Amino acid sequence: MNEHALYKGPVFEMATRQFHSVADHLALPRDERERILWPKRAIAVSCPIHRDDGSTAVFQGYRVQHHLTLGPTKGGTRFASTVDVGEVAALAIWMSWKCALAGLPYGGGKGGITVDPHSLSPRELEALSRRYMQEMIPFVGPHTDVMAPDVGTNEQVMAWFMDTYSMYQGRTVSEIVTGKPVQSGGTVGRREATGRGVAYLVGRAMEKLELKPSQSSAIVQGFGNVGSVAAAALAQRGVKIIGISDHSAAYFDRNGLDVAAMEQHMRKHRVLRGFSTQASFDPHELLWQRCDVLVPAALERVITPENVEKIDCRILAEAANGPTTPEADVILDQRRDEIFLLPDILCNSGGVIVSYFEWVQGLQQYFWDEAEVIERLNRALERSLQHVLSRAVRDGISHRKAALAIGVEVVQRAKQVRGLFP
Ligand code: NAD
Repeated sequence: MNEHALYKGPVFEMATRQFHSVADHLALPRDERERILWPKRAIAVSCPIHRDDGSTAVFQGYRVQHHLTLGPTKGGTRFASTVDVGEVAALAIWMSWKCALAGLPYGGGKGGITVDPHSLSPRELEALSRRYMQEMIPFVGPHTDVMAPDVGTNEQVMAWFMDTYSMYQGRTVSEIVTGKPVQSGGTVGRREATGRGVAYLVGRAMEKLELKPSQSSAIVQGFGNVGSVAAAALAQRGVKIIGISDHSAAYFDRNGLDVAAMEQHMRKHRVLRGFSTQASFDPHELLWQRCDVLVPAALERVITPENVEKIDCRILAEAANGPTTPEADVILDQRRDEIFLLPDILCNSGGVIVSYFEWVQGLQQYFWDEAEVIERLNRALERSLQHVLSRAVRDGISHRKAALAIGVEVVQRAKQVRGLFP
């Protein structure tokens, strides 16, 4: 299936397999599939930095721009030891379908550096972030490719990216990245956007299933940007958060966990480890505990054929990208009546939607207040949700396939009307 030597690995295979399954549904001919699937560009860079001990270290960085048919590419930057060009390409491809589903004028992009950011001092992290952006300058721009945060990066890293790019241009170019701090041209509501969007969609799914938030429970895997905001926003809606984990620890309490106290612990210690001795739980078991809402908000490929049968929830809200493997998805689909799926490209699209708002505000230098950002975010999510639900009913397919079909179709039609150059 994968005839391209450059893009490899389980995450890329997953994106490819998903695409072909949707392309079969849409009856796309082979030559059109090739044109839609393969990334337009992949950039690989070596990023040397001085370490604090005086030595030099070199890190590998990537950026994949999937397609340029609808506008600039858009997508996050991941700093993690698992990053390789195949994973980055898969994430760029998913970004394309996500942006298209949300009706945004972007193709998908993604980038990353193979590094454990926790192994770097703050100074080393800044040096690496700046060097990566400097290496990318010939290939990115506010109308070419716009970066954002992802796993292992945050607002501070975006501020360094923006500053580095701007220094080379000789003027402030705040619209080169999104997810920046508000003090450097970011938008209010971007940091919270993905998690808030997850909570909004979960709320709508609950209404459809006639579940009362005050009588419902949720388990959240991952307590970073997305997981912590999603947990807090669900708690604010009255949902009891009974399980939370990060890479360092897992906690479970049927009577409910104190999300605000966990956030406070995180601010102080940067990890959940050490939060409580009583509620400590086996992280491998957490996802299978009975709950109304299950929110994987950490990594890809955590729901597999080996464990998908054990999931015991009414709503599966895929806040992470690619948490369910295609093999597990087949089984999940057989449980369609039991489990209401909010597929990743819909569930976590709040982030890129508000990134789009940030880009628009940056280009115009005209900034909105938080109420306007949230109102427009909810409206955009509602439109996508309705679109997905009606397509799923119309074609008799899963929510995931419906979301992907809409996204792929938007890109395919845009390519068709533009024609093939030359
Ligand atoms: P983050 O780096 O802020 O947080 C990641 C969290 O996952 C951390 O709490 C980490 O400890 C946890 N984690 C790592 N390994 C784990 C494990 N084995 N078990 C449990 N927890 C583990 O990253 P983020 O920005 O919150 O992104 C999380 C997911 O959401 C990713 O899949 C990302 O691609 C996706 N996403 C993020 C955004 C965004 O706006 N940040 C937007 C859309 C999608």
